[in-house]
Amino acid sequence: MDLIFRRVNLPDGRTRFDVGIEGDHIAAVEQELRATAHQEIDGTDRLLSPPFVDAHFHLDATLSLGLPRMNRSGTLLEGIALWGELKPRLTHESVIARALAYCDMAVAQGLLAIRSHVDTCDDRLLAVESLLEVKRRVAPYIDLQLVAFPQDGLYRSATAERNLLRALDMGVEVVGGIPHFERTMADGAASVRRLCEIAAERGLLVDMHCDETDDPYSRHIETLAAESKRLGLNGRVVGSHLTSMHSMDNYYVSKLLPLIADAGVAAVANPLINITLQGRHDTYPKRRGLTRVPELINAGVTVAFGHDCVMDPWYALGSGDMLDVAHMAVHVGHLTALDSIRVCYDAVTVNAAKILCLDRYGIVPGNYADLVLLQAADPFEAIRLKATRLLVLRRGKVIARTPEKVTDLELPDRPGRVTMNFMPGSIG
Ligand SMILES: [Zn+2]
Repeated sequence: MDLIFRRVNLPDGRTRFDVGIEGDHIAAVEQELRATAHQEIDGTDRLLSPPFVDAHFHLDATLSLGLPRMNRSGTLLEGIALWGELKPRLTHESVIARALAYCDMAVAQGLLAIRSHVDTCDDRLLAVESLLEVKRRVAPYIDLQLVAFPQDGLYRSATAERNLLRALDMGVEVVGGIPHFERTMADGAASVRRLCEIAAERGLLVDMHCDETDDPYSRHIETLAAESKRLGLNGRVVGSHLTSMHSMDNYYVSKLLPLIADAGVAAVANPLINITLQGRHDTYPKRRGLTRVPELINAGVTVAFGHDCVMDPWYALGSGDMLDVAHMAVHVGHLTALDSIRVCYDAVTVNAAKILCLDRYGIVPGNYADLVLLQAADPFEAIRLKATRLLVLRRGKVIARTPEKVTDLELPDRPGRVTMNFMPGSIG
């Protein structure tokens, strides 16, 4: 074999397994693998994970913080207005340079697959052209999936639908939407229907910004689930954000959750963004705005998390670290039980990979040797420490390396390290 990781822990709870790699793929996952390799790496007390996957991002806006000015109110609506001011000033070179810089940050942190929305409301389709170019350039190391996103609303501009169709013709592979930003609830519902029909006609996936508001009566997820059922799109549709569900009454949600599950619609929450953009019209108490993650999971819905924004009109912070995203979800969603923390790890790895329909993902013989070795013993410790990504591999080759974090303490009689055991049970 080319490479064997010895005695690594795996995210599903298996410990001290050997993982052998041949060429671009995983050849063996066994305890005490009887084989030799050109290189062996001791992974004792280290977590070997499939790479992080970001189910929701905006690569066309990233790293544009301060251009042309800062978002003073901190609201979603000022963010959209600010992006509208920046859009006419974009150049291919600037969009490509910022996106590539972000991809470098992502790779260093083991983030090797990103679903990025791309604004299709600019008649030039400059961001679409730019991100298609970025997709080609990063393909050796990042799976970049693009969503045609009518940021200004499908029915708020005369050319929005035509531009969205042009973007799909150019090779953008997922249909997006923003029903809560259309002028009326009726327009929002109509946009969901039209966009799902476009996806059904073309055999594409759907991922809509849906109900990103504190308004409990923003119920476009209901239409999205119903359209998914009507058009037979089961397993191909995502509702992103779903923050209004935070503010809905429990009776309505008890009817909604089974509909979402039955329609095979997945949910993507964006904890860093939801906790900062939602609740902005509240005095006290202030709502958190994160969708009902444990309830969705217990209803059988696939839930993933996205970073959404890094240093752009909507969010001034962020670093491309999906463990930062999972860490925030643990806090905002009260997901502090050990099982729930494990679910948060899945939401930035396997669940997100499922939503992106990634090919040969996961630590199974025959799959791609896309791997991250973390300076943590298990997912709990990885999230707690936002652990150092010691090695990042793509198709069997090391593409990023970060030195181990070392602290020299010289204290007598220190207790040993503490590790946690994950017990099965429901998410609460
Ligand atoms: Zn978004």
